[in-house]
Amino acid sequence: MLAYYRRCDMRDPACRRQRKLLKDEFNFWAEYVPSEPGYAFECAALDLAFSLQHSKDYVLSRLWAIYILRQLPQLSALQASLWHLDFPRLMAIGHALSAVPETEMPRFDDLLARFLHPKKQDESVPSARQIRRLLRQQFDPEPEPPQPLESLYSYPVAPGWACLEMVSSEGAIETIREAINTLAQQQDCTKAQALLKMALGETPKITINVYRNERSTEITTAGGERFNSQDLEVLADRAHERQLATDVEARGYRFPPSMRAAIIARDAHCRFPDCEISAQWCDIDHVIPYALGGPTSMSNAQLLCRHHHNLKTERKVFCRSDGEGNITWWTSSGKRITTTPAGVLSDATEPP
Ligand SMILES: [Zn+2]
Repeated sequence: MLAYYRRCDMRDPACRRQRKLLKDEFNFWAEYVPSEPGYAFECAALDLAFSLQHSKDYVLSRLWAIYILRQLPQLSALQASLWHLDFPRLMAIGHALSAVPETEMPRFDDLLARFLHPKKQDESVPSARQIRRLLRQQFDPEPEPPQPLESLYSYPVAPGWACLEMVSSEGAIETIREAINTLAQQQDCTKAQALLKMALGETPKITINVYRNERSTEITTAGGERFNSQDLEVLADRAHERQLATDVEARGYRFPPSMRAAIIARDAHCRFPDCEISAQWCDIDHVIPYALGGPTSMSNAQLLCRHHHNLKTERKVFCRSDGEGNITWWTSSGKRITTTPAGVLSDATEPP
């Protein structure tokens, strides 16, 4: 079987044109990348931001992504042959490796070159989120906190309106976001009203799932976001542990809570190619419809956002599961792409 990324299929004219665009864009920014980090970068980014009318961060993140890629010879060679990595993916790598010492770079180069190499036919390229998760697993779970640690800021944005900003561990932020979204959905109110209700203690109990691998003690969200030790103390007082049902078949149409939790931990977001709508906004879909005899089991389940669920129901796109969590999609004209799951319960974020 020939393994390749769907977007790199040069028999497809649209893929050929996209490659040219990607290459042109990459080469455009590459010309402006300074040879040394530091002050030269700031100056180059500021100059270009002026010329192009982009923010300095927009420019800096692109220059930096290419600078970091140049420190990764294996990945650079792979990119030069496949042109599979666009700027969101390159920037995810650049950002994650920004503080990695030079001596450590070969290890990351090796890891990324293996992770970002196609393994299946018509495969989708791992998303920026999947790349971030893979790299995150390589670092100490409790890095030096940014200064100031755990802060809450507010500032006016328009007459009568203000913005609230919070810095905390990624796991805590994701949990807070999920709780606000869940309450807003349940009570049919805005997210700001949901937060206000929480602050006033007027809320019903909200269940949030966090996950621990049997082989390790680390607790994360479904998407792999980590908590710091203080957050874990808070979780420990409230968490009830249960085993996830991964290989059973449920009776009836509805997915029982522990199977739902397992599907969310495997998929993390919508399984349609390049859709990253979070589990919270997704339905659990029977890949083979229940009415056609599809079982209510993990191997026949996937997360789909409402939009992509409707596309499937209206038979504008079709899909098939390999039973291991990989979903192959195809359009009515026969174009195919296979997506791999991205959650903590999948192999996709395990080091290859
Ligand atoms: Zn979707």
